Amino acid sequence: MSSSTLLSRRDLAFLLHDWLDVDRLTERPRYAEHSRETFDAVLDLAAQVAAERFAPHNRAADASEPTFDGQRIRTIPQVKAALDAYARTGLLAATMDESVGGMQLPHAVAAACSAWFQAANVATAAYPFLTLGNANLLLAHGSAEQIATWVRPMVQGRFFGTMCLSEPQAGSSLADITTRAEPQDDGTYRLTGTKMWISGGEHDLAENIVHLVLARIPGGPPGVKGISLFIVPKVLLDDDGALGPRNDVVLVGLNHKLGYRGTTNTLLNFGEGVHRPYGRAGAVGYLVGEPHQGLAQMFHMMNEARIGVGAGATALGYTAYLKSLAYARQRPQGRPVADKDPTAPQVPIVAHADVRRMLLAQKSYVEGALALILYCGRLLDEEKTAPAEADRNRAHLLLDLLTPIAKSWPSQWCLAANDLAIQVHGGSGYTRDCDVEQHWRDNRLNPIHEGTHGIQALDLLGRKVTMRDGAGLELLLETIRATVTRAWKTDGEAAELAGRLGAAVERIAVVTRRLHGAGDPEVTLANASLYLEAVGHVVIAWMWLEQLLAVEALGSPDGPDADFLAGKRQAARYFFRHELPRTGPQFDLLESLDRTTLDTRDAWF
Ligand SMILES: Cc1cc2nc3c(=O)[nH]c(=O)nc-3n(C[C@H](O)[C@H](O)[C@H](O)COP(=O)(O)OP(=O)(O)OC[C@H]3O[C@@H](n4cnc5c(N)ncnc54)[C@H](O)[C@@H]3O)c2cc1C
Repeated sequence: MSSSTLLSRRDLAFLLHDWLDVDRLTERPRYAEHSRETFDAVLDLAAQVAAERFAPHNRAADASEPTFDGQRIRTIPQVKAALDAYARTGLLAATMDESVGGMQLPHAVAAACSAWFQAANVATAAYPFLTLGNANLLLAHGSAEQIATWVRPMVQGRFFGTMCLSEPQAGSSLADITTRAEPQDDGTYRLTGTKMWISGGEHDLAENIVHLVLARIPGGPPGVKGISLFIVPKVLLDDDGALGPRNDVVLVGLNHKLGYRGTTNTLLNFGEGVHRPYGRAGAVGYLVGEPHQGLAQMFHMMNEARIGVGAGATALGYTAYLKSLAYARQRPQGRPVADKDPTAPQVPIVAHADVRRMLLAQKSYVEGALALILYCGRLLDEEKTAPAEADRNRAHLLLDLLTPIAKSWPSQWCLAANDLAIQVHGGSGYTRDCDVEQHWRDNRLNPIHEGTHGIQALDLLGRKVTMRDGAGLELLLETIRATVTRAWKTDGEAAELAGRLGAAVERIAVVTRRLHGAGDPEVTLANASLYLEAVGHVVIAWMWLEQLLAVEALGSPDGPDADFLAGKRQAARYFFRHELPRTGPQFDLLESLDRTTLDTRDAWF
């Protein structure tokens, strides 16, 4: 498995075991049935199914995207075969309770499993991952009956799920959604409205599709406070759970995308009267929880989905990095600067410093991002199972603060890694015969969906750093400072890097105070995206210092591990020397409360 061009099994083992120490989680009751062996077995299974069932049709699903003839969708058969194989692994319920058929795997391990599928074929993997998010939301907020009716068939892979938030006029601004849900005498609702951009909204891959839909109950408060959440199945169920009449949800058309082409993306109409369940127009929906709590409930799924987006971006960055590395090792071109003898054979391009720069940049981005994603998984495990309540609360707070960074940093920088992977391939990278151009196209979605980059920036600077009087930010800074202090106590290279990270952390504290002291929210938030980028880079530098400390703790083994650990050191060095310094001018600009963007008038463009 070490030669895979999807992910590095050694890196996953390093992050999960040598750094995050997931084995210790088995001391907790929830994970007591597990051991290092069961973790390794499930990771092997994920790697194998991803390589054998998902990767082979990645390109075919892109080239032959799903089609709609006005009646039904057609998808290449390999997609359904892969999804059936995935369902058989049981991974759909990887982290769920045993009581609903789950494996009770730690989130950190489950995230590593998911990354194999995202690296192999992000578009096919989107179907089960959407279903998982949907099922987890119902497990958290649905009634026992709703869980029995909808979650069980989703966990078995018979029903798939969607999330229906966006509408043509309401993308970033969910306060403006207009889909209506009229209460009925029997306790159900009838929905009417249009949902845009819905992934997996229609397909021929499952017996049924469970839409989770945000809609307004008439008479509720305006804005986000009046949004409720409904289960709206494509096919209604009889009393005994068998498939019954078709619900009034219809596909208007498919969107034709730059990437992620294997995942259907749909415009759906609810309640137009095309189907008339129980003799009437209107899509039948079942309220989840209480009225007007829809957005808060949906955030449960969105937070999970946001980290999942970051994970997908990371996996796409990672596989393209490995593919460009393999290419660089076998593509002969040019001769060393110090020895230009034209009669000597050409060297592989990996020998050129500039190509190594592109490979090191990719390595530092994708391995840094993977560390952050698995760290977030570990925080979720702490939040769920830490013995002390205070520790559970701290994990919750830190994860809340890190979520916009875990979504956006990989979406920006693992996309940049894909760009470099194309560059390493030269002209070949620009052709459709080369995997990396598809990885770039697929990855280009990630800064857009689940809240755009700009929306994540507003979330971080406008909400997360001030929540609970700044307790979340203070916790992040404290946690990074603790790493810095540990590094100072070593006499290795980590101690040297610690000084630079310590200085960057103090800049975050000062700049955040300055921005929030501006006295004008428009000025505070005008450069929020720059803030997100700068803080994100400091967080990834922290991830690299943590990895370096884990490397130093392993001593100096011989053999291939020596090269693996030397590679980690070099990538940490690269990130601290080439990347972290970018934040200096960014913090300077932020601290100056620059108004350039604010003061630019529309007419000047
Ligand atoms: C392939 C794909 C799959 C998707 N899947 C789903 C899905 O399954 N379910 C679902 O509900 N939705 C889905 N979406 C929708 C997605 O979440 C939205 O596209 C996204 O939230 C942005 O909304 P929008 O496209 O309307 O852009 P807009 O909201 O119009 O934004 C356009 C630009 O303006 C910026 N902007 C908007 N408002 C502000 C503001 N207040 N301040 C600063 N900048 C702002 C944005 O950052 C962006 O750059 C999907 C989208 C795509 C492309």
